[in-house]
Amino acid sequence: MKRKCIIGLEIGGTNSRIGAVALDGSLIDSRISDSKIFAQGTPETAIADLAGYIKNYIEERSISEIQAIAAAFPGTIDSKRQILYSASNLGENGKCRYDGMNIPQGLSKYFSEPVFLGKDTDFILYNDIKELGIDTEEMVAGIYFGTGIGSSFYYRGETIYGSDGVTGEIGHLPISDHDRKCTCNEHQGCCETVASGWRLIQIRDEYFPDTPVNQIFVRHRNEAPLKEFVNYIARILALTGNLLNCAYTIVGGGVINMPEFPRKQLLKNTLQILRHLYPRDTYRLLFSPGGQNAGILGAAQFLFRQLGIDKQEGKP
Ligand SMILES: [Zn+2]
Repeated sequence: MKRKCIIGLEIGGTNSRIGAVALDGSLIDSRISDSKIFAQGTPETAIADLAGYIKNYIEERSISEIQAIAAAFPGTIDSKRQILYSASNLGENGKCRYDGMNIPQGLSKYFSEPVFLGKDTDFILYNDIKELGIDTEEMVAGIYFGTGIGSSFYYRGETIYGSDGVTGEIGHLPISDHDRKCTCNEHQGCCETVASGWRLIQIRDEYFPDTPVNQIFVRHRNEAPLKEFVNYIARILALTGNLLNCAYTIVGGGVINMPEFPRKQLLKNTLQILRHLYPRDTYRLLFSPGGQNAGILGAAQFLFRQLGIDKQEGKP
């Protein structure tokens, strides 16, 4: 394949996707893999395994003319977007084998192209903003309920990284009194212990063991455990709404996209909890249109900015 492109890799808590995106922002090709191939193994071979995965994809698809590579992780990253602090949904007991590593520096030994590190939800929000045609100088929030809970905040054309790079760790805000263990290894009533994909599987196992997870809202959305689950999601949205008064809040992720997830009920519950008159009366909740390749396409949007690439094919 001889066409100028970038390579985007999005490592998720459950599945990972890699793909090539042309300089006009269109997807050329993508592939999905089980995230276990990244999660399992030792720290010693972590970077080599990651590089091998990317190289294998590039060779298999005969991709040349690569302008840059971006890898996104579901975790916390330093404000310079070099070091992965922690990716607790990509390992066990709050630990992941990439913790503490400088990923771009490590990968640069294997590639001649520039390599960047990003947070998965930052890339997904870039793609959502583009696909939804959002044009505002005010703040935009992206809150994603997948295996865990990820978020990203965008203001005046930039992602807000925060002093240490860890703005938006909503998944680990203490919100509940119970002492279930969270993936961060604490028992502090984190949001993820009441409103994440992994919590939904626990609910299925406890209350609806005969229901496949993807049918849980189809069969049981009006029953108490799921009503409580949806209300916790609403509380998280309202908490963010009251705190930041964003112009738009985009909600997405695997949980929200499950069959018959009660989207109208979620909006109703959120509006009930939000402070009034404002931000309740102006609250704009949008659902992420991001499909399977949103992380890859968002990685391209991120790289185009980093490299100053004009989105016209052939005009870098
Ligand atoms: Zn936690």
